[in-house]
Amino acid sequence: MNERIMSSKFADGDELIEYSLRPRFLNEYIGQSGVKEHMKIYIEAALKRGEPLDHALLYGPPGLGKTTLATIIANEMGGCLRITSGPALSHAGDLAALLTNLAQGDVLFIDEIHRLNATVEEVLYPAMEDFALDIVIGKGPSARSIRLDLPKFTLVGATTRMGLLTSPLRDRFGIKEQLEMYKPEDLRCIITRSASILNIDIDSGGAVEIASRSRGTPRIANRLLKRVRDYAQVKANGIIDIETAKAGLDMLEIDDLGLDAVDRKMLGTMIEKFSGRPVGLDTIAAATGEDAVTIEDVYEPYLLQLGFIARTPRGRVVLPAGYAHMGYTYENLTLQERMNI
Ligand code: ADP
Repeated sequence: MNERIMSSKFADGDELIEYSLRPRFLNEYIGQSGVKEHMKIYIEAALKRGEPLDHALLYGPPGLGKTTLATIIANEMGGCLRITSGPALSHAGDLAALLTNLAQGDVLFIDEIHRLNATVEEVLYPAMEDFALDIVIGKGPSARSIRLDLPKFTLVGATTRMGLLTSPLRDRFGIKEQLEMYKPEDLRCIITRSASILNIDIDSGGAVEIASRSRGTPRIANRLLKRVRDYAQVKANGIIDIETAKAGLDMLEIDDLGLDAVDRKMLGTMIEKFSGRPVGLDTIAAATGEDAVTIEDVYEPYLLQLGFIARTPRGRVVLPAGYAHMGYTYENLTLQERMNI
């Protein structure tokens, strides 16, 4: 399978559908009750004061609803949303241009904010703290700095790697919220909602089955729903019930816990080739043909959550539950053996 079903990138033609499935207001946002409760209070208080919302940092694995939440913040606050990302802002001037085009109350969303380069980040500090842009005019001894006032805006930053954010940047966010993987029941609601928007016939058994294999991630749930719909339309009567859902997901090589071919290849390689000893991320990447960042951001969080693998200072190891799921007997090596062989 080349194009992974749970990849964080959009498949062809899926952007528009993704857009239409995105909840627009807080009351449509399913699950994440803690985050929702906090955001509701912060937004209501900011609206009462007539001020923009404090800058917010959202973190968690891809596909959990960070962009969606930024859209909701803009809608609830009545501002416009501008979307960009850390890697897209390669020069300080790119960010300056974006900032000077904002209006009061707008929301600037920077995805993958941990990938901002240092010079761009420096422009962000006064913008976040004082709503000001410092511009240096001229060069050498005659250079001088002028300060431009910016409209009061809200920065929403999203990251999958909280640890890679510099602390000056992290400290400038007044609101920090961690998004958790979704419970199967929340995913079932998301699938039912998406099915009704997309006019897909699905019963509750079908929705539960897809939810249980969506690895806690709404983006994956929506994507599996669309692929199972294709299966149901071609191989069945177009209705997604539990049998059709099971057959469609099996065809996609998604197992009953939501692991796909790449996850299994990863676990299989670690067990067979390395006999459960610690394996470095780059070795896993080379063995599976995936890139190391994707493994760390997309695959690992779920395997860690399932207790199938653990991170150790020497590399990743497969735990007994991972052996059992893959049908292997756990090799009970001593710690010494594990570290030395
Ligand atoms: P992220 O920015 O964290 O990668 P997105 O905000 O792009 O994730 O969410 C991916 C998709 O999942 C969205 O298109 C949306 O349809 C769906 N989604 C995410 N969170 C929710 C939610 N809480 N309720 C309903 N749908 C959601």
